[in-house]
Amino acid sequence: MPKVFLITIIFIFVLTVISDIVARIYIYQGKKMTLSTDSYSALMKILNLKQDDLVSEQTDLEIIEAKNYYYHPLKNIIAINDFTSPTVHAHLATLHEAGHYLSINSSEKSRQRFRFSTVVIAFNRLIVIPFFVLSAFLLDYEKGPSTLLFSIATICIIYFAYATILRFYFGLAEERRASRIGLNYIEKNYDQEVFKFAKTTYRLFYLQYFFFTLLIAVAIPFIYLVIFFFYINL
Ligand SMILES: [Zn+2]
Repeated sequence: MPKVFLITIIFIFVLTVISDIVARIYIYQGKKMTLSTDSYSALMKILNLKQDDLVSEQTDLEIIEAKNYYYHPLKNIIAINDFTSPTVHAHLATLHEAGHYLSINSSEKSRQRFRFSTVVIAFNRLIVIPFFVLSAFLLDYEKGPSTLLFSIATICIIYFAYATILRFYFGLAEERRASRIGLNYIEKNYDQEVFKFAKTTYRLFYLQYFFFTLLIAVAIPFIYLVIFFFYINL
């Protein structure tokens, strides 16, 4: 049983690495292609254009320059790497984040739901996953796990399952919606070559996200099983 599990994990790991490498190649290419406008003006344009799609006027929206591109639903911040960047990659990444902002704020229900799942998933990433990784390294395999550790881990694995379902169910659907909004805008405002490139790049981002989520979804239950049920046989 652990062997089949392990082979599955290795297989998904390889797929994750491949999708990551291909996505990085596209990012690299996207950074070499430049457009006549910067990504910040593209962001302003899509936000103005889609103003009516929002549930209410977002007076607290903040747009900042940061190391990574992201949209933070709790703080209502869109972060982009460089306001002045004219590269295709900067445009694609910026429009994707604008897509998150527009999709999440399209209704009160979706905003509530997304804020909730963000908190659940953040706790999972910051506490639950590190707990399993640390347990795997720190456990005394000769003595085996204590009852207390076993109880905590069982609660954690149930929480992990719940957070993972949320990430698959809402997270993946949200990634797709954000890219679709970005892609619709690109189709109408950029030339065909950029549109084709964007389509492939967004698909690769999605795959990268999907395989990474899948890898974690399989690897953590594997650690749990090995530590608490099979450690004697390894
Ligand atoms: Zn995204």
